[in-house]
Amino acid sequence: MENKNSFNENLKKYEWMLKAPEEDKQDPEGQYYGDLIPLNTDRTLLDNVGEKTLRKIALDAIDLLETSVAIYEKNGDYAMGIFTSGWCRKMDATSRKICGSCTNKEALESGQWICHESCWDCSKRALESGEIVDEKCDGGISLYAIPIIAEDKTIGVLSVGYGNPPEDEKTLEELSEKYHISIEELQKKAFEYNKRPKYIEEIAKKRMRTSAELIALIYQNKKDEEAIKEAGEQLERFFSLNLDLLCIADTDGNFIKVNKAWETTLGYPVEELENRKFLDFVHPDDMESTLDAISQLDEQKNILKFINRYRTKEGSYRYFEWYSKPYGKLIYAAAHDITQKLHDEEILRESEEKYRLMFKNSPVGIFYFDKNGVLLDVNNSFVNIIGSSIEALVGLNMLNLPDKKLVYAVQQSLKGKPGYYNDEYHAVTSGKTVHVRGVFTSIEDNQGNFVVGIGIIENISDQKKNEKALIKAKEEAQAANRAKSEFLASMSHEIRTPINGVIGFSELLEATPLNDTQREYNDIVQHSAKSLLEIINDILDFSKIEAGKLELHLEKTDLYEIIDSALDLLNYKAVEKGIELMQSGSRNVPKYVYIDPIRLRQVLLNLLSNAVKFTDEGEVELIVRKIEEDPQKKLVRLLFAVKDTGIGIKENTIQKILEPFNQGDNAVTNQFGGTGLGLAITKSLLEKMGSQLLIESTVGEGSTFSFELALSYHDPDSKEKRTFNEKIAPKETQESSTTNKKILIVEDNKINMQYLETVLKAENKNLTIINAYDGESAIEWFKKEHPNLLLLDIQLPKMNGYEVTSRIRMIDKDVPIIAITARALKGEKEKCLQVGMNDYFSKPITIPSIKTILKKYS
Ligand code: ADP
Repeated sequence: MENKNSFNENLKKYEWMLKAPEEDKQDPEGQYYGDLIPLNTDRTLLDNVGEKTLRKIALDAIDLLETSVAIYEKNGDYAMGIFTSGWCRKMDATSRKICGSCTNKEALESGQWICHESCWDCSKRALESGEIVDEKCDGGISLYAIPIIAEDKTIGVLSVGYGNPPEDEKTLEELSEKYHISIEELQKKAFEYNKRPKYIEEIAKKRMRTSAELIALIYQNKKDEEAIKEAGEQLERFFSLNLDLLCIADTDGNFIKVNKAWETTLGYPVEELENRKFLDFVHPDDMESTLDAISQLDEQKNILKFINRYRTKEGSYRYFEWYSKPYGKLIYAAAHDITQKLHDEEILRESEEKYRLMFKNSPVGIFYFDKNGVLLDVNNSFVNIIGSSIEALVGLNMLNLPDKKLVYAVQQSLKGKPGYYNDEYHAVTSGKTVHVRGVFTSIEDNQGNFVVGIGIIENISDQKKNEKALIKAKEEAQAANRAKSEFLASMSHEIRTPINGVIGFSELLEATPLNDTQREYNDIVQHSAKSLLEIINDILDFSKIEAGKLELHLEKTDLYEIIDSALDLLNYKAVEKGIELMQSGSRNVPKYVYIDPIRLRQVLLNLLSNAVKFTDEGEVELIVRKIEEDPQKKLVRLLFAVKDTGIGIKENTIQKILEPFNQGDNAVTNQFGGTGLGLAITKSLLEKMGSQLLIESTVGEGSTFSFELALSYHDPDSKEKRTFNEKIAPKETQESSTTNKKILIVEDNKINMQYLETVLKAENKNLTIINAYDGESAIEWFKKEHPNLLLLDIQLPKMNGYEVTSRIRMIDKDVPIIAITARALKGEKEKCLQVGMNDYFSKPITIPSIKTILKKYS
C-alpha cells in the first residue's frame, strides 16, 4: 500500500515524459535493434518495464541529443537499442562490416562488433560498480552509462552516447584506420553532425538519470503488483481450499462470503449461501445462544469454541464449533464440523458406560493393578468375595501380601505371563477365608509396554464344598458297590455250594440202579440244577461287569482247543435237535494266541448255544478266519462268526437283544426260556477285548453273530512251543501212578465233602481220602498223614485256605495244593497262586474237572 502511494507520487515527477501522445513520437531515422530481443536470455527489464516504455525513454534521449541509446539487461542482452546519429550509424555499420556481417545477430555472435563492444564495456563497468560511468567511447564520441537500481540491486544499464565527433586530425586518422573509413568521410560526417551546446548535454544527462530511475520505479512497481497479486491469490486459495468452514458475515446476521467447505459440508452452492441470513440455517434450539454470540461480537468480543447446529440441504443438522472475531460490523469466523467427533465421543462414552456397568455389576470379581502390584480399582463382586471395602482394598500392594501363591501369580502377570491362583485365600483386610480361583494378566500397548494389570477372581468355596461332597458320595458309592460285589460273591458261594451238591449227587445217583420213573425224575433234578447254576453264573458275570470288576487275564492259549471244546460241548445238543454243528474257515489261524481263554470260551459258548437253541433244522456253523497278519510284530486279526439257519431276529429287535434282561420277542422267550443276559455279557466282554459284536439276521432264514479280534500270537516254530509240548506230553502216561495215593480234602460243607469223596473214589477206588472240616484240623491231618494232594476250600472255619497253604508250604514245598472255591472275586485266583497253591478250580467241581486234577497232580 505504502509502495503504491510513493510510486504514484514519484510518477508525478515523470509525468511530462510519458505524457506525449504516441503518434507524436515518430521513430527518427535510425537503427533499432528490435531483432536482437528474441535472442535475450534475460528479459527482466523487457518484460517488467515493457518494450513500449523502454522505447519511449530511448526516444526521449534521442530527442534531446540526436544520439544512440542502449538499455542493457544485466547480462548484456539488449532490452532496447537505437542508433540515430549519423556518426554513430556510420561507425556501427562499418564496424559490423569489419566483422564480416551485416545482420545484428551475426555481428553480435562474432564478438568483433567493436562499436557495440566499446559501448557494453563501458556499460558493464557501470553495472558492476553501481556508479555512473561517463567517458570517451571507442567511436570518437562520449558515453554516459547509468546503472538502473531497484531495491538496491542493479538490474540493468541505460547507456547514452553524447558529445560531438572529433575534429583533430590525429584522432580522425586513428578512427579512419580502425573503422576503415576515409578521413574525408569522417570529416564530412563530423561536419554534418548536429552539434549540441554543453548545457544541453548536462540537461540531457540529468534527464537520463531520471529515466533510469523511472525504469527502476516501473520495474519495482510491477514487482510489487505481482507480489500483491500473488498474496491475494494465496489468500483466496487459502480461503477457498480451507477444509474448515471460513466465512465473513456481518453483525446483522448475513453471510457475506463463505468458502467452498460450506458447500461440501452443507450441500448448498456457495452462491446460495452468500448474502443470505445465516440464522436461516441455524437449528431452532440453538437460535437463542447464536443471537447471544452475535451480540457479543457486536460488542467487539471474540467468540471461541461456540457450538451450534446448521441445517444441511437434505434437512439433517451438523454441529459446528466456532472461532469468531469481530471487525467493526464484520465478523471473521472459522468453524469446524465436529458432528463426527461428537458422534464418536458419544459412542465412546456409551461404550465406557457399558464397560463401567459391566465392571461394576459383573458377577466375577475384577480388579486392576499397576506395575508395582498396587490395586487401582476393584468391583463390587471383588469386595463381596474378599470382604472389606473398596477404600481399604484400593492402594494395597499385592506383592506385600503374605500369601506366597498369590504373590507369585501377580509377579507372573507383571512379567507378561498369565498368573493363575486356585486356593484357600485368607483376606488380610477382612479376615475372611474363601476358596478363590483367579487369573491375572497384564495389558500391553503396541510397543509391548505395560499399561495396566487386570485380574478376575471367583469364589469357588461352594463348588469346592460340592466337590468334597461328591468325592465322599463317590467313595460311599464305591464302598456300596464293593459291598454289593462281596454280597454277590458270598451269595454265589452260598447258592453254588448246595447246587454243587444237587448236581454232584444226581450225577452219582444216575450211576446207581434206578427204575425208569426214578431216572426220569433224576434227569429233571439234574437239568433244573444246571439251569439254575447257569442263571447264577450269568447274574454274577453281569454284576461283575457292571461293577467294573471284570478283568481279562491274557495268557498263551491253544485256540484250537478252545474252538474244539466249545463245539464238543454243544455237539450233543445239536445231535439231539437233529441239526448239524460244524466248523469252517481255514486252519491257517495261529494255534497259540494271547487271550483270556475263559472269556473267549464263554463268548463262543454263548453264541453257539444261542444258535443251537434257536435253530430247529439246518445247521450251525462256527467260522474262524484270518483277516490279516503282521508276522514281524506277530499280530493277527481273526474273524469269528457263528452262523445259523434258525428262526432269525426281527430288524427292530436286534438292538434290543443286546440290552441286559432283554429277550426280544415275548413269544421267543416263552418258547425257549433263558435270562436275556447272555448277549449283554458277550457284548461287554468283546468290548473289553477291543472288539464289537455284529449281528446280521433275517427272520425265518437265520442269523450271523460275528466279531473280530486283534491278537498277539505265538510262533509255533519257536523253542517255547516245543517246550510247551514236552511239558504236557508226559501227562498222558501219569494215570497209572494214581494208585494208593492219599488225598486230603479240606471242606466245611458236608455235602460237598461227601460229593468230592464219592467222585474221587469213583475215579480211583484205591485212593485214601482224609477229611478235614476246618483250617486247623487240616494242618494237623497234613502233619500226621503227609498226603500226596490237597483239595482246599478257601472259606473255612478257624483258619482260611490262604493261611493253611502258607503253613503247609513251610513244611512241604512240593505237595500239590488245589484251591476249590465257590467265591468268584476278582484277583482271587492270583491270590491263591501267590500264597503257594498250584491251581484253582471254581465250584461246582464237575467230574471232568476232578479227572483233570487227578491226571495232572496225583
Ligand atoms: P437268552 O438267550 O438267555 O434269553 P441272550 O442275551 O443270549 O439271552 O439272547 C437274547 C435274545 O436274543 C434271545 O432271547 C433271542 O430272542 C435272541 N437271540 C439270540 N441269539 C439268537 C439266534 N441265534 N437266533 C435267533 N434269536 C436269537
